[in-house]
Amino acid sequence: MIMNRRNLLKKMRNFSLLSSFLPFIEVASSNAKNAGKVVIVGAGWGGLSAAKTIKRISPQVEVIIIDPNKKFVSCPMSNWVIGQLKSMDDITFNFEALKNNYGIKFIHETAINIDPDKKIIITDKQNIIYDKLILSPGVQLDYSTIENWNENYIQDFPAAWKAGEETILLSNKIKNLPNGGVVAISIPLGPYRCPPGPYERASLIASYLKSNKKNTKLIILDSNQKIVSKGGLFLEAWEDLYADIIEYRPNSGVVGVDKNSSTFMTDFENIKCDVANLIPSQKAPNFLKEVGLINKGANWAAVNSYDFSSSILDNIFIVGDATSQSNVGRVPKSGYIANSMGKVCGLAVVAELFDLEKVSPSLINTCYSLVSNEEGISVSAVYDYNLDENKIKSIPGASGLSPARSSIIKDNAWDWATNIWEDMLS
Ligand SMILES: Cc1cc2nc3c(=O)[nH]c(=O)nc-3n(C[C@H](O)[C@H](O)[C@H](O)COP(=O)(O)OP(=O)(O)OC[C@H]3O[C@@H](n4cnc5c(N)ncnc54)[C@H](O)[C@@H]3O)c2cc1C
Repeated sequence: MIMNRRNLLKKMRNFSLLSSFLPFIEVASSNAKNAGKVVIVGAGWGGLSAAKTIKRISPQVEVIIIDPNKKFVSCPMSNWVIGQLKSMDDITFNFEALKNNYGIKFIHETAINIDPDKKIIITDKQNIIYDKLILSPGVQLDYSTIENWNENYIQDFPAAWKAGEETILLSNKIKNLPNGGVVAISIPLGPYRCPPGPYERASLIASYLKSNKKNTKLIILDSNQKIVSKGGLFLEAWEDLYADIIEYRPNSGVVGVDKNSSTFMTDFENIKCDVANLIPSQKAPNFLKEVGLINKGANWAAVNSYDFSSSILDNIFIVGDATSQSNVGRVPKSGYIANSMGKVCGLAVVAELFDLEKVSPSLINTCYSLVSNEEGISVSAVYDYNLDENKIKSIPGASGLSPARSSIIKDNAWDWATNIWEDMLS
């Protein structure tokens, strides 16, 4: 391989330090003839971020993304659609810029197996050879603990925890709720994707009901002992704004459903409702377990926190929600973290392809939540790699919770989303 190694390494270091904070910067490319082939499973937050990072650093590397979805629909801001503030069009994007500007190839198929010895990924239609494989398949919704569950019940108990058809379904159900109607949201035990997401959703639904419907109720059935993120700020907003609408019930996980009467069952009571939003437990997709990327007894993929390589199989990297927090460290399952992980992993993959030193990872997370159609709250943290603990740790003094809800934070939230969508997709 002919390439300017020193220059590439220097640019990678700069890129790593800045990648989480700035839009992509122009960096040197390799002029290697056969720079390698990277296959990525998942055109979501982690997968797209990894793909673009690799192509920006080294355009000659062939990058193929496998995902059955032909469009990117953002989970972040999908609660705004359910709260009737935005439309699906506002959160849906195509992959044209990534294809045209970076030469990233998309294959709209589903990955079903991996042959790690031959370095082949098997989809529902073909076998694809890779040099490096990156997996960012998100989460699998796990209904196995819900008594009476049947997969045909999605229409009656949508999760809307993967943005798409169920987001539209739930949004329409909220819009069509009759006066006097009852909405119930069930929240699973952590870890699940986007810890504050269910509470933001509850706030936005309550905000819509307050202005548009009469005598409605929103019952939050939380499996957790308390609100798992930004608890004080959510409770304050609910007390101030929705005392007549929201009933928050901790330690009240949904254990079963009755479709005919549209009822949620907890260990203590049955709650009949007009709109039932069942957010089930989550785990890494079964596909990862089947190919041996998850340790026995665990639910999430085992990775090395320095570069997100699999700690079980060579030449495979896993990023995003599917990774195990007990390996990575206490980072939330968020789009912003998946974006950071994708960049760190993209750099690590280029380093391996060109036999370069890997750079120490840094990650960032800011999580905005609206508490009404006018105001938001936020929490932020910056992370780096802690050698002693071999984990990603938040940097002391670099984390913070917004002191109070404000309209500025609502504006910041939309700005954050438009910037990070551009970062991944343009
Ligand atoms: C309501 C809601 C609100 C949220 N709000 C925020 C927020 O404000 N800020 C924030 O940072 N995060 C937020 N999140 C969390 C964020 O959406 C996730 O953390 C993020 O999507 C994780 O990225 P990922 O790449 O791991 O998975 P995803 O983005 O889900 O991407 C996974 C992709 O893999 C594909 N895939 C899966 N299996 C296969 C297979 N076998 N073959 C091929 N393709 C496959 C899927 O089709 C999907 O496109 C929110 C989540 C929800 C549900």
